[in-house]
Amino acid sequence: MSNCLLCTQNLKTRQTFSELIFFGKTQSGVCHDCLATFEKIAEQHCPYCFKSGEEGSCKDCHYWLSQGKSVSHTAIFQYNEAMAAYFSRYKFQGDYVLRKIFAREIKEAIADFSDYTIVPIPLSQERLEERGFNQVTGLLEAAKIPYQELLGKRDSKKQSSKSREERLETEQTFYLLDEKNLPEKILLIDDIYTTGATIQLVTSLFMKTGQKEIKTFSLAR
Ligand SMILES: [Zn+2]
Ligand SMILES: [Zn+2]
Repeated sequence: MSNCLLCTQNLKTRQTFSELIFFGKTQSGVCHDCLATFEKIAEQHCPYCFKSGEEGSCKDCHYWLSQGKSVSHTAIFQYNEAMAAYFSRYKFQGDYVLRKIFAREIKEAIADFSDYTIVPIPLSQERLEERGFNQVTGLLEAAKIPYQELLGKRDSKKQSSKSREERLETEQTFYLLDEKNLPEKILLIDDIYTTGATIQLVTSLFMKTGQKEIKTFSLAR
């Protein structure tokens, strides 16, 4: 029998009959105890970015809207402690098998955007070599979702007094691989939505080409 990919306890002991019928054997390779530590986005959330617990526009979206930007984001899970631990193992320790555990949730959520072209946020070459994989395309491939790579990302090498994160948030390091023949409707996919800065940088590239129908999606917000 297989074991939970996160805590290694045996999976078969906790499976109910209906799960066998509806989801096949083990849906994600993760036990119920571990699955229960992840929190879905609350029913009450920011209507623009899906931040949980917000009644209207959240602080981040308030800022983007005041800048004349639009936000049309969907996310599945809250970025809680369990999700932070998950990304630490998946991204930073490079535990590639963990790309699979949210495959069903991602597949279901993205099914709502069936007429959109799925476009992952890329990594720079430097980061890709360091990590060995793009965590976003890993999630998409595990969910068997076809996607198009329309973007590149330059390495951000020069040092400055600002922290790396601060620089990355404001500096345009993304570029379009081909400005022509862009699809009509685009759903940009990222792993985590923090302030929306990355998504806004990428969206602005498409907007410059006259593209209007751009929505965004992340596993966690
Ligand atoms: Zn577990
Ligand atoms: Zn928001």
